[in-house]
Amino acid sequence: MSSDRRASVPVRTRLADGRELLYFFDGDGGRPHASLPEDTRELPARPATPELRYDRLLGEWVSYAAHRQSRTHLPPARECPLCPSSDTRATEIPAPDYDVAVFENRFPAFGPETGGALRPPDWAFEEFPAVGRCEVVAFSADHAASFPGLTRQRVRTVIDAWTHRTAELSRLAGVGQVFIFENRGAEIGVTLHHPHGQIYAYPFPTPRTLTQLESARRYRAEGRGELFADLLADELADGRRIVARGRYWTAYVPYAARMPLEVHVVPHRSVPDLPALSHEEREELSGLYLDVLQRIEALYPTPTPYIAAWYQAPVNHPLRGQYRVHLQVTSPRRAAGKLKYLAGSEAAMGAFIGDVIPEDTAERLRGALPPFAASRAAEDEA
Ligand SMILES: [Zn+2]
Repeated sequence: MSSDRRASVPVRTRLADGRELLYFFDGDGGRPHASLPEDTRELPARPATPELRYDRLLGEWVSYAAHRQSRTHLPPARECPLCPSSDTRATEIPAPDYDVAVFENRFPAFGPETGGALRPPDWAFEEFPAVGRCEVVAFSADHAASFPGLTRQRVRTVIDAWTHRTAELSRLAGVGQVFIFENRGAEIGVTLHHPHGQIYAYPFPTPRTLTQLESARRYRAEGRGELFADLLADELADGRRIVARGRYWTAYVPYAARMPLEVHVVPHRSVPDLPALSHEEREELSGLYLDVLQRIEALYPTPTPYIAAWYQAPVNHPLRGQYRVHLQVTSPRRAAGKLKYLAGSEAAMGAFIGDVIPEDTAERLRGALPPFAASRAAEDEA
């Protein structure tokens, strides 16, 4: 295991409308600046920062980004904005080729303005700017690629990019939480086929994370220790829902999974976010992440839609130290041609009715590929 491998160093540039673009490269060291062309397009000015309203009934913020209605929706490959630029066509990425590219979203749900600490409004209908930042992460220059088909080295570059962005966005004024995710499949609302993920730097800690933190706080207040650690220990002791296990990470279907396909990937050490991981942990993660996605891919003859969501500790939150970073991969697919829809009970009440027993899901995923071996890390690099 190469603990001395340096994280990928990005090269920065700006797009024609001022948005930032970063290139991350596979392997050590960047490529020379001079080889990266400038954005020659004429772009309209960036949209105004969306509006934020506070729902006092639920105690949650809602962002209104009306300009997103005009964003690109499932364009054909010849009009894809994430493909590299060519002599005849300029895209969002001016380079003729790239490994991983990260840039500010042209149609952000938060930002481009940053700064300002949010507080619940004094007056019921007071509006706030939805400050923050939204970024797009292109995983490959190949339009037809998909995350489960990336090389292990590329996944490592993507993880390095996520780590870099989490550290940098966490330092932006007013950012409350950095959320990294990939939506895969038009069935769950993907608007571009090109393999990519997104990053939201929210101006608040998200409702789901606050609920988890409150559970962890209460557990500790009752004198029962660290909730995240005990959950992992209980899953390992039970064993029936474990999908893959490495030296530093375990992937399992949670005891009370909500979705027909749901896998959590959890580090064995208590760390709040991706920047707090060690090189060894990131290295193993690149293999285990691929393993989990490839297992999901192997279940059906056609690609399975999924959401891969990184839960990271809120920035500057008093309970941050009680949180543990983890990945939740979920899919609504419950059979070859069937999707679970969030209907009355789930959508209105937030009360989930499961379609599949979690132990059965875990067994199917375990049987989909040979067992994961942490030692594959060494083999892959040889
Ligand atoms: Zn493309």
